[in-house]
Amino acid sequence: MSTESRPRISARVAAVAESATLAIDAKAKALKAAGVDVIGFGAGEPDFPTPHFIVEAAARACADPRNHRYTPTAGLPELREAIAAKTLRDSGLTIEPSQVLVTNGGKHAIYNAFATLLDPGDEVLVPEPYWTTYPEAIRLAGGVPVFVPSSVSSGYKVSPADLESYASPRTKVLLFVSPSNPTGAVYTRSETEAIAKFAADHGLWLLADEIYEHLVYDGAIATSIATVDPRGMDHTVIVNGVAKTYAMTGWRVGWMIGPKDVVAAATNLQSHSTSNVNNIAQRATIAALTGDQSEVEVMRQAFDRRRRLIVSLLREIPDVVCPMPDGAFYAYPEVSGLFRRDFAGARAANSSELAGIILNQAKVAVVPGEAFGTPGFFRLSYALSDTDLEEGIKRIAKLVNQG
Ligand code: PMP
Repeated sequence: MSTESRPRISARVAAVAESATLAIDAKAKALKAAGVDVIGFGAGEPDFPTPHFIVEAAARACADPRNHRYTPTAGLPELREAIAAKTLRDSGLTIEPSQVLVTNGGKHAIYNAFATLLDPGDEVLVPEPYWTTYPEAIRLAGGVPVFVPSSVSSGYKVSPADLESYASPRTKVLLFVSPSNPTGAVYTRSETEAIAKFAADHGLWLLADEIYEHLVYDGAIATSIATVDPRGMDHTVIVNGVAKTYAMTGWRVGWMIGPKDVVAAATNLQSHSTSNVNNIAQRATIAALTGDQSEVEVMRQAFDRRRRLIVSLLREIPDVVCPMPDGAFYAYPEVSGLFRRDFAGARAANSSELAGIILNQAKVAVVPGEAFGTPGFFRLSYALSDTDLEEGIKRIAKLVNQG
């Protein structure tokens, strides 16, 4: 067979969907660049600059020739130590630096983790709604995502009973994300214990994404699931990073923590793909994790204020149902009550179409729930300025009240 008759793109990669959240963000940015006054609730990133002392540490690192060379794939020894110390400080979990692999962001840690754990056909329990990257990373590793629905009434959380009906002899991993993207749901300690017990009883691995651990409100605490797993860290891989906590999305530093054999295997994989993470960004991360943590609290308080504001404004819109999120920086309202209404001659049959109408007519970008496996919902990030937030929701309210 000649190359001409074969597909140009491999089936594996052709099957990967575009990131819906990045697509919406790009569309909003393109409209903005064309001079349209669009307010974007799409991006999952803090609007703050990275704290100054972190930027300064990076500037110093730039000038240091030690950082101009290849360094160990698994991460700078000082950073792996700082991550181990931070994990004890913030999660109460004792780990060794050899259990840490520094990656190019949390996304890369997720990719490495699934590639390291899954064989073709292995199933992963993925509570719904889920962040868009997980199913793609699972499928790229040959695994099969098995979606476990939740409901508004359960606060978008799943219970062991929900998980039980989707588990099979092929299930290998259970994904646990608390606080959640896209819902902001935070599992209580006892709910987390119940999930850990379920995983232990079924001999499942846990992939715990803890990237929003510090963004919790109203006294909610994100329990690190390995601390309540009777097996300890033996069957858990933790994914974390500096992006959300320190307003460092563009620096691309994350990490995975796991049993030594898993981390050693994932390090081998990374040694053939990206090698060490940029040394300057690693040095900045050491400063972030070991330095003054007070700006984290200042940013958390700003998010908390915006959380209350966005939820109260959304709840004023007729037929929008918005639970109060306990963590992260997203609101996840149910909007199916607005389907089939007339908006200046346009009608939506689903949340994707409704998001299109809102972007065209109100000049506001939101991410439709289809991106997270749950049509009928919107995700709105409240990591934007108070003024934009207020103006954006007012525009949606005005459209709905006219419709
Ligand atoms: N996990 C979750 C739940 C996220 O929302 C994100 C970012 N949107 C990440 C991981 C990855 O973050 P990064 O790759 O920027 O570190």
